[in-house]
Amino acid sequence: MLNPVLVIERKRDGHALTSDEIRFLISGYAKGEIPDYQMSAWAMAVYLQGMNAEEIAVLTSAMIATGDRLNPVGDKPRVDKHSTGGLGDKVSLILAPLLACADVHVPMISGRGLGITGGTLDKLEAIPGYRTNLDEAAIEQQLREVGCVITGASDRIVPADKKLYALRDVTATVPSVALITASILSKKMAESLTGLILDVKFGSGAFMQTETEARILAESLVSTGNLLGLPTSALLSDMTQPLGKMVGNANEVVESRETLKGGGPADVRILTLELSARLLVDIRASLDIDSARQSLEQILDSGRAFEQFERMVTAQGGRLDAMPKLGKSHDLTAKASGFLQSIDGQRLGHAVIALGGGRKFVGQAIDPSVGLEMLVRVGDKIQTGQPLVRVFSGEKSDRASAMRLLDDAFTVGDTALPPVLLFQPWSK
Ligand code: URA
Repeated sequence: MLNPVLVIERKRDGHALTSDEIRFLISGYAKGEIPDYQMSAWAMAVYLQGMNAEEIAVLTSAMIATGDRLNPVGDKPRVDKHSTGGLGDKVSLILAPLLACADVHVPMISGRGLGITGGTLDKLEAIPGYRTNLDEAAIEQQLREVGCVITGASDRIVPADKKLYALRDVTATVPSVALITASILSKKMAESLTGLILDVKFGSGAFMQTETEARILAESLVSTGNLLGLPTSALLSDMTQPLGKMVGNANEVVESRETLKGGGPADVRILTLELSARLLVDIRASLDIDSARQSLEQILDSGRAFEQFERMVTAQGGRLDAMPKLGKSHDLTAKASGFLQSIDGQRLGHAVIALGGGRKFVGQAIDPSVGLEMLVRVGDKIQTGQPLVRVFSGEKSDRASAMRLLDDAFTVGDTALPPVLLFQPWSK
């Protein structure tokens, strides 16, 4: 029998743990045999010492083994995308139905908002009736009948992650690359995928603030996924400003619908097409990225992706015809003329939270009707008095705080800027 204190001590002193030691800790923790205080010490040792690629792979497998994996359904390839989260990131709502039209299954298990970044489940729950708590049998049935599903993780999918994530949240150990990698990949691998793409975002509106941090995380995710036999690739994408125009919940569903019908903002369309096309090439369902992109473009422009989205929403109980109206709108205007130098994503995210579109505490109810519509982009020429952002607020919104945050979020200066690169493929 291993001794948890000795294992934690070895990690604290910079030694790599054996596979048995890692499996012992994770399965013991999931079963309640290892207490929170010992796992906290271990998580901090990992945070400070890091883990090598083999340790991260074993940790990921050990976490998956604490729960169930989805069963394959039929013989279609199964793919998914994971984003590390960013303001206005609504790509999942478009990508899942789009890829289901390209003859692959998409069993997407998603999360809620984390920090300032919104969550796919919160956005979908802006659609009255939409269920995000499907069990494994319902997921499998929907895959068979519809081809795609977006739901939350049940208690049987990687229970070790639920416990460990909550513990990390209160022990300052969330930003450990090893622990983030195992947390993300364990949930995605429990979907029994044949291909995975990661959208690793960086900038003020993302979890990773710098490109260097994003590269390190992408490297860890891609190498661990591939080491465990799942074809995994990544894009690094820019979050120096929100993706698309809408930031919130109901308004992001509206923007997703437009994109699914072939319209929508160019950046949302381009990034969704790129992630989807790369997945099709990675699993060899398409020969090259250009032809994959072209056939996906046709699916969007023909309206088929939108029809597929409607089928998915209906299957999960949602009523698109009953979407809430957006809240009262107020515009924030520019105080100076010049070029828009930057947008502070942290302030924008906190403004959405003040409006009631994100959470200050776990379990807080969200008002789907509030949010922001971005009216300018970084690099734009701005005139004094020009509207910069439209604010949608509700009865419970703290609009004064939101306006104060937004007031400081836009920096206008004299310098014309080069265009921002939306994404770059990650490679070593
Ligand atoms: N998202 C996850 O699912 N896990 C992490 O650790 C961080 C982001």
